[in-house]
This record gives sequence, C-alpha cells and structure tokens, in this order.
Amino acid sequence: MTAEEPRAGGPEPLTFEPKATLALFGHEPVPARLTVFERARGWRVRRAVVFAVTGMALAPFVALFPPHAPWALGALSTGFFLAWRSMNSRFAVARLDGVCPRCQAPLQLSSGSRLRVPHPLSCHSCHHELVLNVDPADLPEA
Ligand SMILES: [Zn+2]
Repeated sequence: MTAEEPRAGGPEPLTFEPKATLALFGHEPVPARLTVFERARGWRVRRAVVFAVTGMALAPFVALFPPHAPWALGALSTGFFLAWRSMNSRFAVARLDGVCPRCQAPLQLSSGSRLRVPHPLSCHSCHHELVLNVDPADLPEA
C-alpha cells in the first residue's frame, strides 16, 4: 500500500466522473469514461513540505562533492519542483475506460496517477501518443 491509495477501512474518497475524450491527431476523438478522486488539501500540503524540507536538508551534504554548487542547486530545485507538483496534484485517476481512436485497443491508466489537463498517454498497441481531454468545468471548484 502506498500513500497514494485510499486507506483500507477508511472513508472512501469522493469520486467524480468528468466528461472526457481521447484524442489523437488525424482521428476523430472518442469519448472515455473517467473516474477521478480528489486528494485532501492536508495530504498535498504534508507531502509538499516533506519534499521541500528534504531538498533543503540534502543540499548542504551534496554540496560537499565537487563541483559543489550544481549538486546543491539540483537538490533544492528538485525538492521545490516536487513540492510544487504535489500542491498541484488535486485530482488523481481512479479508473479510465476508453479505447484508442486509431486502433481501438483498450487504454488504461494506473489508479492514483496524477491527473493533468490535458493528460498525455500512449497506446501500448499502436505506440501513438494520445491526449486525454477533461472538461475542467466538470471538476469541482477548490
Ligand atoms: Zn492505438
């Protein structure tokens, strides 16, 4: 069990089913059935703080090794990037039922994947890069 999954025996997270389509350039977009859940603000803040503090704590130690400054800047920027990403990961995919617009192969996203709008994904059958478009109006306001 990872921190991304809802706890067993805990309250079920609220899920939403926004309108979604799978698009591939040169092909007609196909509707997809997408279920997302909202991550709690406290969970996102805790995770962001852990990433930022870890980056700041690692920076002085990695700076001991030549060429010094790039390692420290790398640790800091990685920590702050992961913190920023955690804060902006409000919705996660619970389930995706859809088919590739080109080859009709069923597409899947792993549960707990961070939902980006639009969300890139690839078809494992024809190896084309698709886009999962989600109507932001169908997602609840902050
Ligand atoms: Zn395909």
